[in-house]
Amino acid sequence: VSWLGIHGHDAIRDAFAHADERGRLGHSYLFSGPEGIGKKRFALALAQAISCLKPKAGLNPCDECSACIQIKAGTYPDLHVVGLPEDKHEFPIALMQELIKSLGLKPSHQGSRRIAIVDDADALNEESANCFLKTLEEPPPDSLLILIGTAPERQLPTILSRCQVIRFQALNNSDLVKAAVEVGIVGSKVEAEKSVALAHGSLSRLKLMLDPDIQAFATALHRTFQTPKFESVALGILLTKFADAAKESAQKRIRAQFAVELLLALFRTALQHAETEQPELQAEPAIARLAKHPSPQALLSMIDVTLEAEQQIDRRFQLALILEALADRLGQILR
Ligand SMILES: [Zn+2]
Repeated sequence: VSWLGIHGHDAIRDAFAHADERGRLGHSYLFSGPEGIGKKRFALALAQAISCLKPKAGLNPCDECSACIQIKAGTYPDLHVVGLPEDKHEFPIALMQELIKSLGLKPSHQGSRRIAIVDDADALNEESANCFLKTLEEPPPDSLLILIGTAPERQLPTILSRCQVIRFQALNNSDLVKAAVEVGIVGSKVEAEKSVALAHGSLSRLKLMLDPDIQAFATALHRTFQTPKFESVALGILLTKFADAAKESAQKRIRAQFAVELLLALFRTALQHAETEQPELQAEPAIARLAKHPSPQALLSMIDVTLEAEQQIDRRFQLALILEALADRLGQILR
């Protein structure tokens, strides 16, 4: 049985339940771990568990009281959730100011805890982080602040020193399958099991693997390397459009990462073929073409620039810039 639909983070749940029972729940936490493994879901579940008016033992909310119902509906007045707006790649300071203002308001009823969840905290710039810092230094009484990010190193030391870091791990395959079925990404366990190996323990990535457009994208991507004249602009557009098809910035990054992995796999396979006697044998057209032209040396350079792009995606550079620059650099090598 899952805790409020959450799979795979039992030890963390138990630790919070234990702290809560002893009245030792902290004021500020950083939830850290890979994207798409349920950190925000966990934060919302925790918010519900500690706000519930008729809680049961072990951080189990009643699921029926007004607080439970409002939290599930996203209308609970003492819970404030912010995230990176769709069209931004840094946290707007105005959003942070608004959050801090609502945290300073009186709780809606006596004994209620005011809770703030800051999703996409990796995208806090210095200005918005400093704005939030004052609240972290002097949190309103009975408040709980949760930042959600992918790695503690991505936070300013001043922020980090005031948060308890909770490290979430990628889901194992069995938890991932259960979670996928429960949230309705797949119709059945069997369907999830087919793609789970490529999902790296992330529900968001599993969702991408099951996207019917993914095969068409992989085909189009290979096709750009089949033709005698490589069009770097066309590749740039193809990559950017693919990444942009998602709404949330985390999803966009997952898509960009996947596209870059496809390129790496293509170049590496072509390199293996180039080093055999008859490179064109038994290879699909893009691989056969790349194995003959450019040289293995050039293919190595292509792998290098692609790996560099992969790191830049990880470091939160602007996706469109990374992908267009990658296409351009590949174009220069293939010229
Ligand atoms: Zn309740």
